[in-house]
Amino acid sequence: RDKQGRACRIAGSQADIHDERIAIEQMRHYSLHDRLTGLPNRALFVDHLNMALSRWRREPRSMFAVVLLDLDRFKTINDSLGHDLGDELLVEAADRLRGAVREIDTIARLGGDEFALLLESLESHEQALATIDRINASLAQPFVLGGRTVYSSCSVGICLSSRGYVRGDELMRDADIALYRAKATKASVVLFARPMHEHAIARLEIETEMRLAMDERSFALAYQPIVDVSSERIVGFEVLARWNHATLGAISPSKFIPIAEETGLIHELGEWVLRRACEQRVYWASQGVDPELYVSVNISSRQLLGSRFVETVQGVLDQSGVDPQSVRLELTESALIESSTRALHVLTQLRALGLCLCLDDFGTGYSSLSYLHRYPIDVLKIDRSFVSQLETAGNSVLVDTILSLGRHLEKTVVAEGVETKAQLASLRELACGFAQGFYFSHPLDADAADRALALALPPARMSARK
Ligand code: C2E
Ligand code: CA
Ligand code: CA
Repeated sequence: RDKQGRACRIAGSQADIHDERIAIEQMRHYSLHDRLTGLPNRALFVDHLNMALSRWRREPRSMFAVVLLDLDRFKTINDSLGHDLGDELLVEAADRLRGAVREIDTIARLGGDEFALLLESLESHEQALATIDRINASLAQPFVLGGRTVYSSCSVGICLSSRGYVRGDELMRDADIALYRAKATKASVVLFARPMHEHAIARLEIETEMRLAMDERSFALAYQPIVDVSSERIVGFEVLARWNHATLGAISPSKFIPIAEETGLIHELGEWVLRRACEQRVYWASQGVDPELYVSVNISSRQLLGSRFVETVQGVLDQSGVDPQSVRLELTESALIESSTRALHVLTQLRALGLCLCLDDFGTGYSSLSYLHRYPIDVLKIDRSFVSQLETAGNSVLVDTILSLGRHLEKTVVAEGVETKAQLASLRELACGFAQGFYFSHPLDADAADRALALALPPARMSARK
């Protein structure tokens, strides 16, 4: 009994130890793996990455890559089909990823729809790209979820091993910057390059400062005259945003508008620009300027397709008391391409408010003729790049084509970026109605625009103003 009893105790405790070991192992497994897909999680991935990095630093014979991958449209699928089917999609995507990589590679789910890959023993970066190609092809196959067929694709950021890296999280950070780029530029795969890091830091700084600038009102508007080509009289102003930075000086809108778009600040900034422009137009009305004079305000696609854009515009029109007929909105084709049914709906509503709509940079984008039929566009703005070619003989074909298109479709045409007398002469010859550019005037601050208007007023009105 004694012996038996002891044996029992020993067996019992061995079983306990065994159970405990299984439990610990299970816990360890759970803490290092994603429950849904069974893939390693971020902690385990970073662990593998750090080991790969130290191996590579000892023996940098081959290279390795950190790949971050984000499913496009996952949120839409999840929201529209429900979380259960969203989960199914993730499990299926995880299986496809497993099928596309080699034994030695690590795949992890970092959370949500974001996955990470560690590709080791690579001969060249092309080998990493070939793996990504396989992944892309596999994810491009339709997913059948709850009887429905849905399509997904992914954005990919890649960072390759290089001398400068000491810790795994530095490679993660740079792959993340590349992924961000891939999403922002809609390129499906982006390989990290060093200047991107500087770009990302600069971006962050600009973003922080822009938020401050919004509060401190360091934005201003410039007004570039738009003239009637035959009389050279001012018929309107294009409104251009300016940022007067305390230390950096004037920052170009081509720099800060894209950042405002990426960060969503564009809605606030854009509303402010429109409000200021309308107030300025109301002020000019009080000064007795030509009632036909208009302000033409640039609207970015993000702004136009924002959920409350029409209400915002309506609010600004009402509060400023401006005549909607004297406000034009300049839109770019990208908004019309991105979301055509929504764009059509928004444009129709804006038109109903009494606003005139212009297609900016015409000729540079897809410039599909079908847009001109489909959307309620009143004005085409010929891009500067075509106007600048006017001086060379025989290069007027494109401008001429846009002008005759405008005539057939009964659209007003404005030529942008007129810099020389010769360009103006060509535009006259081609019977272009309106133009703007440095030849007539650079963008002006409000006071200078005031003066330009006073000069343009007929003598009778000039004296009436006195
Ligand atoms: P854009 O709409 O094509 O505006 C015309 C740009 O060309 C302006 O640059 C203007 O200063 C410049 N320009 C005018 N005449 C000439 C010329 O004869 N020669 C040359 N080389 N350039 C000329 P700016 O002010 O730097 O604006 C750049 C872009 O930033 C604008 O291009 C517009 O797309 C965007 N932008 C400016 N203000 C706003 C805004 O309030 N909202 C939005 N969403 N975008 C804005
Ligand atoms: Ca414009
Ligand atoms: Ca333009």
